[in-house]
Amino acid sequence: MSTKATDQQQAISSLYALFGGTFDPIHYGHLRPIEVLAQQLGLQQVILLPNHVPPHRPQPEANPWQRLKMVELAVADNPLFRVDARELQSSRPSYTIDTLEIIRQQQGAELPLAFIIGQDSLLSLHKWHRWQSLLDVCHLLVCTRPGYSNRLINTELQRWLGTYQINDAKKLNQQPKGYIYLANTPLLDISATDIRRRYHQRQRCDYLLPRAVQQYIELQDLYR
Ligand code: ATP
Repeated sequence: MSTKATDQQQAISSLYALFGGTFDPIHYGHLRPIEVLAQQLGLQQVILLPNHVPPHRPQPEANPWQRLKMVELAVADNPLFRVDARELQSSRPSYTIDTLEIIRQQQGAELPLAFIIGQDSLLSLHKWHRWQSLLDVCHLLVCTRPGYSNRLINTELQRWLGTYQINDAKKLNQQPKGYIYLANTPLLDISATDIRRRYHQRQRCDYLLPRAVQQYIELQDLYR
């Protein structure tokens, strides 16, 4: 086998990577950083996992099926992405850790598994249900996000990051779980909150989210 072929094989990552979100709606601030992260780490596939939002939390404006449809439309032509609708199809909301534990069981103990979040999610991770158990199941990959500090205020979270953070991404493939990797992804100042506000105010959103998603929003009369 040529050296080139060997190098290429080494560059392909075996990481099973998941990216959860409310996706109300999905936008380029979700998709672009993940595409770059995938290039950087050699990910062949990223699985989008739309959340089932519990009734006691502020509810998304789009219903679960509309959010799912928008996610499907956003990545329909992009083989990097696959959609896992299990949380939306379930009759009751589940915490991220519960879903990840089920996926871990299904994939077996040895497969390197990673859950991707943005910087804002890292800052409030200590509020997540059983947040410290996340690393018992998977690695955490964190994408940069403009407008959010990279200093953690919560001291327990800070200590946790200090203990488990790695700088060498290759380690993510050498162990099935347990590391935190802060990725250097492009900064896109896009949020679903701002997109919904723009639609409410009848402003254009041309460069913020895929055309197919914009068309669906118009067709469904969403965010009015
Ligand atoms: P909202 O404005 O309604 O809170 P959002 O734009 O933050 O929504 P979510 O679906 O809540 O989108 O986010 C899902 C995940 O994507 C989170 O981990 C979040 O940190 C990350 N994320 C969202 N927007 C960006 C962005 N522009 N850059 C990097 N990460 C992002």
